[in-house]
Amino acid sequence: MARMIQVVVVDDEEQITDILKEYLLFAIKEIEIHAFNDSLAAKAFIEQNPVDVLITDFKMPRFDGVQLMESVSPNLRKIMISGYLSEIGEERLKDLNATFFSKPVPLRTIAKLVSEYQEELS
Ligand SMILES: [Mg+2]
Repeated sequence: MARMIQVVVVDDEEQITDILKEYLLFAIKEIEIHAFNDSLAAKAFIEQNPVDVLITDFKMPRFDGVQLMESVSPNLRKIMISGYLSEIGEERLKDLNATFFSKPVPLRTIAKLVSEYQEELS
């Protein structure tokens, strides 16, 4: 049986975290989603809780998705969804060791990736 996977979803737009949360809950069994619209609140949560996967937007006020990814353990699986990936720069993208997607959010592809991570962790 697949083990419970802990996923943090971060976007400053509530609409995006809502749709991601709903879709992942529908598509994947044994998943817990922790959604945040404030990236610093997400950072604090990740520091204090076991998290397997971080799915984040790039452009957010105060603390962006790159800063967030750089602040977490390298053991986390990381997915970034943004319409502005070209602004990050290739070197920095490579260093993040994440998977990148453009908006609109490709829900099915992301769900597939998360269930692959879940299998790897089980
Ligand atoms: Mg944003």
